[in-house]
Amino acid sequence: MSVEQHLSSQEAMALEDRYGAHNYHPLPVVLSRGEGVHVWDVEGKKYYDFLSAYSAVNQGHCHPKIINAMVEQAQTLTLTSRAFYNDQLGHFEKLVSETFHYDKFLPMNSGAEAVETALKLSRKWGYEKKGVPENEAKIIVCENNFHGRTTTIISFSNDPVARKQFGPYTQGFVKIPYDNIEALEKALQEESNVVGFLVEPIQGEAGVYTPAEDYLKRAKALCESHNVLLIADEVQTGIARTGTLLASCGNCNCADRHCSGTPEVKPDVLVLGKALSGGVYPVSGVLANDEVMSVIRPGNHGSTFGGNPIAAVVGRAALEVIKEEELAENAFQLGNHFRARIQEYVEQSDLVRLVRGRGLLNAIVINDSEDGDTAWNICVALKENGLLAKPTHGNIIRFAPPLVMTEEQLDECIDIILMTLKSFE
Ligand SMILES: *Cc1c(COP(=O)(O)O)cnc(C)c1O
Repeated sequence: MSVEQHLSSQEAMALEDRYGAHNYHPLPVVLSRGEGVHVWDVEGKKYYDFLSAYSAVNQGHCHPKIINAMVEQAQTLTLTSRAFYNDQLGHFEKLVSETFHYDKFLPMNSGAEAVETALKLSRKWGYEKKGVPENEAKIIVCENNFHGRTTTIISFSNDPVARKQFGPYTQGFVKIPYDNIEALEKALQEESNVVGFLVEPIQGEAGVYTPAEDYLKRAKALCESHNVLLIADEVQTGIARTGTLLASCGNCNCADRHCSGTPEVKPDVLVLGKALSGGVYPVSGVLANDEVMSVIRPGNHGSTFGGNPIAAVVGRAALEVIKEEELAENAFQLGNHFRARIQEYVEQSDLVRLVRGRGLLNAIVINDSEDGDTAWNICVALKENGLLAKPTHGNIIRFAPPLVMTEEQLDECIDIILMTLKSFE
């Protein structure tokens, strides 16, 4: 082994600090190994991972089935570009389409690329199928959204840190408050040439903001009556994270955790990423029925790496793991248990204002101002106690472990969290 592989945490952080752009503010921990719900730092200390790479690692770190699929494919064929067919992509497209009940899938790599794809698709549908005059299409978005980091996407962000000094911005977006059905109705009535409504079923980055039970269902009904596409960004909430295969299916009363929603809550355009690969490889994409997807023709859109053979086998294995190990069911059960135990604490605590979430996507709100540092300090203390989590917005801490956790492990984690919180009282 080379010398570089034996850096201490301090040395590894200094190296990144010196040679890497400072576009993140990481917790001071340097990880070198992961397995299931655990990660280890370079000194060998073991942690529970309660971020799961922003819900990319739903299937657990280094899941053997996904890793084996990747290694085998990596030794066979890695990239052909879409100038040629490859023998893996079709299998993956079929599995994704059938799993989520859409006619077709368009593969990309990152979540932001998939969101961009959904925006382009919706605009083109608007011009071709809805008859919107060229360059007039509008897409309704929500305040406090997070959809990625490209120039167009940050154009409709209202986070000044993500947005300021990156203009000029892309036109054609109308912002309304989240979880406000009246605001959506008003915008749909007052704005002309609206082609889509882009929404996160739960706003993850905003602090796991969970809307009213019927929000998505009512949004879908309004979109339908105005001939507007409901575009659901499930990059973070999808793939079993919230206790159902998709968060949008949590809005119907269907008891099947593997179903992807009844027509009344089914998005017209579905955006997936993150856990679509189990955190093993960048795999994202967009699903839609033929009526929408058929507006994309050769040359309209693409990506050199999108739909490559490794992505295809990794994506397939990742979805199979979700089903075989019943991870949606597990997330549902454990999520209820987690919130019940944390809620007990919240009721007799001045430190934590509330716990909220669905499945294993949860957050606590610390009784501190938005620019206070209590949440950060709690996360540093949690790290010392063997559990990794990160504040989302100032005083909010997100808790999102891999979905392969057992109830026994979760109870141990809750003990760590409660013990740490009590030390801040
Ligand atoms: C993470 C995320 C994205 C962006 O995904 P990247 O892979 O980081 O580009 C988009 N939307 C939501 C809701 C996300 O959580």
